[in-house]
Amino acid sequence: MEKKLSKETLCVQAGWTPKNGEPRVVPIYQSTTFKYDDSDQMARLFDLKDTGYFYTRLQNPTNDAVASKIAALEGGVGAILTSSGQTANFYAILNICEAGDHFVCSSTIYGGTFNLFGVTLKKMGIECTFIDADAPEEEIEKAFRPNTKCLFGETISNPGINVLDIEKFARIAHKHGVPLIVDNTFATPINCRPFEWGADIVTHSTTKYMDGHATSVGGVIVDSGNFDWMAHADKFPGLTTPDESYHGLTYAKAFGKMAYITKATAQLMRDLGAIPSPMNAFLLNLGLETLHLRVARHCANAQKVAEWLEVNPKVKWVHYCGLKGNKYYELAQKYLPNGSCGVIAFGLKGTREDAVKFMDSLKLACIVTHVADARTCVLHPASHTHRQLSDEQLIEAGVAPDLIRLSVGIENVDDIITDLEQALQNI
Ligand SMILES: *Cc1c(COP(=O)(O)O)cnc(C)c1O
Repeated sequence: MEKKLSKETLCVQAGWTPKNGEPRVVPIYQSTTFKYDDSDQMARLFDLKDTGYFYTRLQNPTNDAVASKIAALEGGVGAILTSSGQTANFYAILNICEAGDHFVCSSTIYGGTFNLFGVTLKKMGIECTFIDADAPEEEIEKAFRPNTKCLFGETISNPGINVLDIEKFARIAHKHGVPLIVDNTFATPINCRPFEWGADIVTHSTTKYMDGHATSVGGVIVDSGNFDWMAHADKFPGLTTPDESYHGLTYAKAFGKMAYITKATAQLMRDLGAIPSPMNAFLLNLGLETLHLRVARHCANAQKVAEWLEVNPKVKWVHYCGLKGNKYYELAQKYLPNGSCGVIAFGLKGTREDAVKFMDSLKLACIVTHVADARTCVLHPASHTHRQLSDEQLIEAGVAPDLIRLSVGIENVDDIITDLEQALQNI
């Protein structure tokens, strides 16, 4: 029933429906444990024969309420919260890949994900091939191997602000019998629902717009329930053959459309345990209640700021997919017709020192290692988030060495522009 409601209503109301006399607001179930009358009831929970709470590492009512709000917003069948966006992407891959497996990924992704996929997963025996997301389908397909288990991309890449052709990616993935995983952090379900374009799994760093106030690190994995694991049973033994740690239960048979997300909870959360605290889930929920209002304001402000920067003589280039003439304008019109995000990339005429001086001169906009919260902030990826990458890798990741990432907040846009103007006058 929830899925028929509009996104605005889901932001405010989904996930928690109190019964008579219960709290109107989702309570913080700050409890590790849950009490049962007899040991048999508890045993059935451990065998996944009954659903219910027994230990917060696996499930918690506050976390679940917030996860199901996000599932409703994305139009998925189920979701789990994770302790960070990094964990969301890690688990999303690990849930279907093991040592000896391979996957294909757009090279224009968040620097942290780039390291996770290219370095840490490699050490675990899972190999990733990075491809140019804008390349023709035949070109991308060349990266696929018999042991390839998924395709991965970001709706709007951080920090490059490139827009992913989700339908193209879904076509390629499905042609090769694997799911498409999309990190939808920057777009949020308010501006794009990747499932509507063929994605199978969606992840988020909820740390960004979803929380929106820079209070809590967190992540989420959402399952569309659309991928037919049994149709490609040989590729996904973890879902289609018995799990000995649950008395030989087979996820795809026992849970159908919920197989992937159930395995992520019952196996990965059980064994690896990167669960957010119920307190953080509660704070995330407060953010979600105004997501639709904030995202609209972020986009409107960013559009004005991008247009202002574009005609400023001290600015060398501006990259924002809402600008006509931008390389991704057409894709943005298709996938993000109501707006993209509040993040703009631009470069200044002048030296690297000028860029630093400009940033140091800002008064309203702060230099912080963050994006996508209510306060306007700036970052120079080459000297901050992406400093571990070589210049070559930077360009491959769609990050020009002179790129300044401006995350436009929800303040009054004229105040933001006044601040940028006085800082530009300093160089
Ligand atoms: C920030 C970010 C992440 C990582 O999320 P954390 O919550 O910082 O762990 C992953 N993907 C994208 C697109 C991000 O912007």
